[in-house]
Amino acid sequence: MLIPGKELCLRSVDNRFGIRLEGAHVASLVAECQKAGNQETGGILIGHYSRDHAMAFVTDVTSAPIDSKRGNTWFDRGVRGLKRKLQISWRKANTFYLGEWHFHPGASPSPSSVDSAQMAEIATSPHYACPEPILLIVGGTEAHRNVAGYVYEKGMQPYTLFQDDKFLEGGKHGEPSDPSPDGR
Ligand SMILES: [Zn+2]
Repeated sequence: MLIPGKELCLRSVDNRFGIRLEGAHVASLVAECQKAGNQETGGILIGHYSRDHAMAFVTDVTSAPIDSKRGNTWFDRGVRGLKRKLQISWRKANTFYLGEWHFHPGASPSPSSVDSAQMAEIATSPHYACPEPILLIVGGTEAHRNVAGYVYEKGMQPYTLFQDDKFLEGGKHGEPSDPSPDGR
């Protein structure tokens, strides 16, 4: 469940991939969904990876660019302003494009076939230079927003990322991003 202001962590069962968002970014996601009402919306995720590449840290969540198009069950993200935003992010903080986020109002946070086709395209696009793009989907109702993540590794079936609250509890006290044992 997505709680505004509470940090979010999602991980694949095998711990190969994960994503973390600070409470402030969770709050802006929830606010964007609230604003969208019963229409889909979305944007991009900006951030960086842990040294072992197993965890993506989101440092910015954009709202839908103004040239986006949307309906109740579809969303076509625009591009206006993103190039400049990414240039500034890279220059100022060495952060870069990590993937996309979507809002599926009143629906499950699972990717449509169109979503998956778009993410597979991004994974292979030289324009994005992002072979493992993440898709974060917020679904559910205002009373209960659920969330799931997917990693579209180039040429592979998507990995599903599940919410991992236990990890966050531990992360408060220790170093949360230990490299995996195989040193990858
Ligand atoms: Zn979608």
